[in-house]
Amino acid sequence: MKLLLFGAPGVGKGTQAKLLADYYSIPHFSTGDMLRAAVAAQTYLGVQAKQHMDGGRLVPDELMIAMIRDALVGPTAKTGFILDGFPRTVPQAETLTVIFHDIGASVFTVVNIDVDPELIIKRLSSRLMCPNDGKIFSSELMDVRQNGPCPACGTPLIQRVDDRPETVRERLEVYNAKTAPVLTFYEKLGVVVTVDGNDTVDAVNLNIRNKLRALKR
Ligand code: AMP
Repeated sequence: MKLLLFGAPGVGKGTQAKLLADYYSIPHFSTGDMLRAAVAAQTYLGVQAKQHMDGGRLVPDELMIAMIRDALVGPTAKTGFILDGFPRTVPQAETLTVIFHDIGASVFTVVNIDVDPELIIKRLSSRLMCPNDGKIFSSELMDVRQNGPCPACGTPLIQRVDDRPETVRERLEVYNAKTAPVLTFYEKLGVVVTVDGNDTVDAVNLNIRNKLRALKR
């Protein structure tokens, strides 16, 4: 099972990727999580990436491609994987085709999660993160607040710098300009499955699994 989760910021890629990784017992590679870990550890990559991430811009392709190539050629990706947040540009998608060829991953599916733009803004502005383990919570759906305790471990919850309203606008513009064309790239290959992401987490998850089962890939 090789899946690429695709969609605008805030459609629930990370949440769904974690659930699917558990369900299919395959590794989940989130480029956003990998970058945030690099920023926290102040590695060379983290220092380079931080300025772009905080501004809501994309991290340069060459850094991203090196990172994802390292993850996919490793032994953990042999039985399958879920990519969440990659590719985000057409050059990244083109290079991923070469990497897939190198690792023999000829059959894969792009899961496109589609959510109404107004709901995306609402979700991002109410999204809180636990800095300890990266878990995501919604102040719309749960009784959680910024600086309040993480329901799982008690660490004070934070709002991601790039979830602030002014940065969200920039991220959505970047998505439309640079990332949306990636969907057209994969549609031409006939590998896209689109699911309605406006529903609850569980309903969207069931919908994805049903669509994947129907594909029998
Ligand atoms: P995410 O957690 O997926 O929303 O990613 C957070 C931020 O990390 C993005 O807004 C980008 O700045 C950066 N990022 C993550 N994945 C990529 C990628 N494939 N290409 C470029 N930048 C990325």
